[in-house]
Amino acid sequence: MMPMSLIEGRGIGLHTHHWSQNPDKGREELRKDVEMMAEENMNFIIAVAKPGFGEITTYYKSSIYPKSSYYKWDALEALIEESHSRGLEVHAMFCPFPGGKDNPTLRDHPELCIVDRNGKRFNWADPAKPEVKRIELEAILEVVNKYDVDGVYLDYIRYPGSNYCYCDYCVSRFREEYGVDPREIPSRSPLREKWDQWRREQFTDFVKLVYDKVHEARPQAKVSSYCWTCASPYTVYQDWPAWARRGYLDFLVPTGYFYDMSVFRSVCQHDKLIVGGSVPIYIVIGVHTSHGRLKPGELAEQIKIVREEGLEGFVLFEWQTVKTNFHEEVCSSCPEKAKLPHKT
Ligand SMILES: [Zn+2]
Repeated sequence: MMPMSLIEGRGIGLHTHHWSQNPDKGREELRKDVEMMAEENMNFIIAVAKPGFGEITTYYKSSIYPKSSYYKWDALEALIEESHSRGLEVHAMFCPFPGGKDNPTLRDHPELCIVDRNGKRFNWADPAKPEVKRIELEAILEVVNKYDVDGVYLDYIRYPGSNYCYCDYCVSRFREEYGVDPREIPSRSPLREKWDQWRREQFTDFVKLVYDKVHEARPQAKVSSYCWTCASPYTVYQDWPAWARRGYLDFLVPTGYFYDMSVFRSVCQHDKLIVGGSVPIYIVIGVHTSHGRLKPGELAEQIKIVREEGLEGFVLFEWQTVKTNFHEEVCSSCPEKAKLPHKT
């Protein structure tokens, strides 16, 4: 084999419910998908393990969350086998907090939900509550311990908006520390920033917990996270610059869901400026998302921009559209294999 001198993170974001329910047929479809990804010289896959929306069911054997009735076979196990034999890593994606549909944790324990300023519950697990952290960490470690995954990828590490969380637990913990009810902080008080920072720390603590425990269970595994823009520490209390700077991630996957090429470029520049150097950045290229879709030629253009701006790599989201409309374009943008930056 030729030595690989190129170093670039090339990921594929993958929903895990596209293959046939029939074990033989499904496995064959999965194998063909992974073959195509290998042909495109991709080097890792981010596969949904625990989704954030719809029914909260898994595509692997879980003792914590219900297994999807869709598959009679273990899609995660098959994906790992097929990927590893072709040199691709598999990172299992977890969405710890969104409630989805019929989430057993929140259905049985509605008191674990977040609460808005008016006292109304929202179907989203509260990152501050120890019980939430315990359950979600257990679900992640179950996969890390049972499956030969190369890493864990986190998503939705944030509140759904800025008006959270004012549950009794959060209010009393903040009051114990700062002597004030957060609902009563005047808008121009310096305590406002303390309350915002306290909320950021709830997510940051969770990321650190996952990072420490995953590395303890499987030292070679990587922990990564999706994140939004430089505004998200203020709008949804997602302090990803701190996660990167404090060393709680092995690589960062910021949003690149921008369909104007100059905006996409400025986001690349901005992300690099904020955390460049502390962790590899693989920006998500939104091939087809709820925000828009790329036209022919634009995927290659965005890969070119990622390289020109010196980011360490990219993740293409989502596989079904890449496979159907962009296979040739990805092949010509990535004619050679590349090593993963987070391995070197
Ligand atoms: Zn709370």
